[in-house]
Amino acid sequence: MAYTITDKRLSFEFFPAKTEQGLTKLKGVWAELSALKPEFFSITYGAGGSTRETTFGIVSEFVRGAADVAPHLSFGGDNEEAMLAFLQQYADLGVRRIVALRGDTPSGLGTSSQLVHADKLVSFIRRHFGNQFEIEVAAYPEVHPESKSYHDDVHYLKGKIDAGANAAITQLFYNPDAYFYYVEECQRQGMNAPIYPGIMPITNFKNISRFAAKSGFDVPRWMHQRFEPIQDDTEATTRLGIETVSRLCEQLLQGGAPGIHFYTMNNSEPTTEICRNLGWTTH
Ligand code: FAD
Repeated sequence: MAYTITDKRLSFEFFPAKTEQGLTKLKGVWAELSALKPEFFSITYGAGGSTRETTFGIVSEFVRGAADVAPHLSFGGDNEEAMLAFLQQYADLGVRRIVALRGDTPSGLGTSSQLVHADKLVSFIRRHFGNQFEIEVAAYPEVHPESKSYHDDVHYLKGKIDAGANAAITQLFYNPDAYFYYVEECQRQGMNAPIYPGIMPITNFKNISRFAAKSGFDVPRWMHQRFEPIQDDTEATTRLGIETVSRLCEQLLQGGAPGIHFYTMNNSEPTTEICRNLGWTTH
């Protein structure tokens, strides 16, 4: 290994479980992944604030367990007064980190509701809470689908950093060159904040391909060639996925990525195995 794992940040993302059964499973996954000593766990927020209560409930539950927990947050349907009260509830719980987003309009609402860009949320948090929270924002090495150009995308990431974000986490990707090029471009534009690769293990290749088409990231041709013939075999896909994603992460860490944020999809495997391959151990 040409990197020191103790210098790298590890974080795990969950989505709020909808059922009692899902919550019980999540607690088990949480315990298993805690053994890898991540810097924090993050909990997503449904489009338009649709998981306001469940996200808050899970954050409250896990914060009591002394883990560092970062709720994802967007204005959704909230006005400034409601957002202020919500942030205060998080501050009172002892939350120290927020993933600040614009989010998307919930499906079915079309474009009728107004989305508040993430830079406004970052400024809002800094204005009302000073440096009480570490703030993470989203970054798109292969360009957000609504961005008019590569230049615009980098420019708006800079806007979020200049507004007070401490770090960025990327959209998932499988092309390391896209990440390295993006980081260089951001540095050329004067951004020094760390940009953490957001990485999703592969257990269902069809889902990854569908999500890629919608979200505007590339799945390299060689991966289509390797995964498509086995895509109905979950075990074989997961095995090849572990090998592929471990290699990707190794390239990223060796190339200077400051850590990895895993989109765990609420499963401890295969994330745990990939982490072990990279040198993060449970003891
Ligand atoms: P913004 O930074 O506001 O950018 C959105 C678009 O507008 C971009 O095209 C950008 O170039 C442009 N833009 C940015 N600022 C301005 C401005 N000031 N003026 C004009 N244009 C601007 N979604 C959820 O619903 N819940 C989640 O929990 C969630 N977690 C995520 C976590 C990560 C790490 C990532 C990468 C994405 C996550 N998403 C989540 C998806 C995200 O909400 C969508 O990608 C959304 O479309 C954009 O959110 P953003 O915060 O990047 O928005």
